[in-house]
Amino acid sequence: MTDQMIVCDGLVKIYKTKTVEVMALQGLDMSVKKGELMAIIGNSGSGKSTFLNMVGGLMKPSAGSLYVDGKDLFAMSERELVKYKRETVGFVWQKSSKNLFPYLTAIQNVMVPMEFSSEKLSESQKRARASELLNMVGMSHRKDSLLHQMSGGEQQRVAIAIALANKPKLLLADEPTGAVDQKTSLMIQDMFRTLNRELGLTIVIVTHDISLAKKVDRVVMIRDGKISSERVMKQDYVERLKHLDDRGLESIGAEESTQEEFAILDRAGRVQLTKDLLEQAGIEGNRVKLEVEDGKIIITQ
Ligand code: ADP
Repeated sequence: MTDQMIVCDGLVKIYKTKTVEVMALQGLDMSVKKGELMAIIGNSGSGKSTFLNMVGGLMKPSAGSLYVDGKDLFAMSERELVKYKRETVGFVWQKSSKNLFPYLTAIQNVMVPMEFSSEKLSESQKRARASELLNMVGMSHRKDSLLHQMSGGEQQRVAIAIALANKPKLLLADEPTGAVDQKTSLMIQDMFRTLNRELGLTIVIVTHDISLAKKVDRVVMIRDGKISSERVMKQDYVERLKHLDDRGLESIGAEESTQEEFAILDRAGRVQLTKDLLEQAGIEGNRVKLEVEDGKIIITQ
């Protein structure tokens, strides 16, 4: 378990309103390795944000367990949870204005979370670290700018620096490229990979952005509050990405297939067969035959 950053088991979340109950997560099992750069995709309403908010310590489940960096998140006291939110995990939202105070400059914004860190830094140490972070996200030249003086993409890069202010082990990003143009999106994608590689930061990104999803180590697809399938980066792309330092990820064409798709076999031995697959195989109804031949499982009707 030590090489895992996130381990969740049977996560269930039910939202209750006066009139309805929505089961946003229906027994989600998932693990994320330390140092992994991964994305979660899925239709709107499939439970992605619910999962991310839970890992971020912003929400409790209705059932199930969740360990982050070896700690049981739901057994934490309020005090431990506050410390967890400040120091273990960093959050980036689609709307970067959610991360930034409009009346503070970029560098002052990056220094804000440091005020709440248990590591007591002097004013000049805070400034030096904030400067270093702004440099890392390519925003040194904008350190004295206010929110409205920066473009959406620039604000998002400052938001990433803010999320990293207290050296989190885990960065969570909810649609980080959802509100920026394509060029900025590519820049942010590059930045995630650099942070992942250079700081060993574990990164989980919820996204609709297919170009982003193609360039991460693993993509998990959530359907109806459960994982339906997974795509894993092909080994030759893993090698290629290691040597992309200068050209960035743009050199991988959008049409290239960088990942292999896997179905998920759950603990009870269940696999979901998509409508497409069943149609292609001409399988109708709900009864199939299973045989093992040459080490393969064959499904027929
Ligand atoms: P996604 O991020 O994949 O779009 P969400 O996690 O936001 O999905 O939502 C999953 C389901 O839970 C949706 O049906 C959504 O309408 C519902 N939901 C999310 N937040 C709430 C809430 N606060 N109250 C009631 N229902 C909610």
